[in-house]
Amino acid sequence: MSDQHAHRADLRIDVDAIRHNVGVLAARAAGARTMVIVKSDGYGHGTVTVARAALEAGAGQIGVAALGEAVALREAGITAPLMCWLYSRGDDFAPALRHGVELSASSVRGLREIAATAAELGLVARLHLKIDTGLCRSGCPEAEWPNLVDEAAKAEADGHVEVVAVWSHLACADELGHPSIDNQALRFRRAYERARTAGLGPIRHLANSAAVLTRPDLHFEMVRPGIAVYGLDPVPQDGDHGLRPAMTFRSSVSLTKRVAAGESVSYGHTWTADRPVNLALVPVGYADGVPRTLSGRMSVWLAGRRRPVVGRVCMDQLVVLCDDDVVREGDEVILFGPGDRGEPTAAEWADELGTIHYEIVTGMYRPRVTRTVVGERA
Ligand SMILES: *Cc1c(COP(=O)(O)O)cnc(C)c1O
Repeated sequence: MSDQHAHRADLRIDVDAIRHNVGVLAARAAGARTMVIVKSDGYGHGTVTVARAALEAGAGQIGVAALGEAVALREAGITAPLMCWLYSRGDDFAPALRHGVELSASSVRGLREIAATAAELGLVARLHLKIDTGLCRSGCPEAEWPNLVDEAAKAEADGHVEVVAVWSHLACADELGHPSIDNQALRFRRAYERARTAGLGPIRHLANSAAVLTRPDLHFEMVRPGIAVYGLDPVPQDGDHGLRPAMTFRSSVSLTKRVAAGESVSYGHTWTADRPVNLALVPVGYADGVPRTLSGRMSVWLAGRRRPVVGRVCMDQLVVLCDDDVVREGDEVILFGPGDRGEPTAAEWADELGTIHYEIVTGMYRPRVTRTVVGERA
């Protein structure tokens, strides 16, 4: 698996793991189409890399948040059905519509803008109507829903819009048994019935990763997993779902040294050797995504075991305690990975920092960090 090239700061993206995870999710949601979510640079793994791997593994559709992400996927040659749900007032829908990108509408104004652009281009816009079932973020409020579906039915009759789906998003799917889940499902079913009454014939999609894994009754005709595609489990309390983390963050030792008892390490001298020890310098720091708040609270995998990082994490460097073990310049250092060998994981970083693994992986790709795709057909 590991190549011999010494890296400064590298994210290794395992596309076999992504394919495996898509297979796990598609099997869980057998009977439903799988829309794999690759927003925000594929959660830091690379939008196009992930989209390709997901489609190879049986995903039926790709989803992104921003219009620019959708257009970029088309320009990279991704021809599969592609949905995009987030835009700002004044955004130009023309490039996305020309590329056949399906858009979401949460309001009559949005619907009319999309329909008008489609009419100008002589195209039919494929629309997913979004009902707000209780997340109170995007989506059409229940009170305005009848108006939106009636307007959508009119636009469909005019020939510039096709309503392909009714959809919504869950607020607490990762909290098993949270009462909001059933409540949102009830509102969702009601909104769908109203759309049918207006003469629309859409499919339905509601389930994020957590609901794909724990709520088969909410899979409907399509599911929208994101985080689980990357091998990070949003509901570990539900047991092992057999997902494989796809991102490994690694570096290599750039300098080794022995220091005497009484020497202190890094800015602020927060750690002092109480005996002579070997230290390894690793050329990554908080500018490369290693949170400075993990100073004194993290370890790395180096030369066959976990070893603590001592002293402060600096902007560009950190120091690893190697006791009396001899490690060599160029030795691989794993900051986090799948955990198979005993190395730390992104989920461990998140727990230590009081956040979620989503935030860890989406924040890792930075200007000085390289990204290397590995896997059978990488
Ligand atoms: C991010 C997102 C998803 C995927 O959620 P995960 O928890 O990552 O599976 C699905 N739908 C919408 C609207 C999203 O914003």
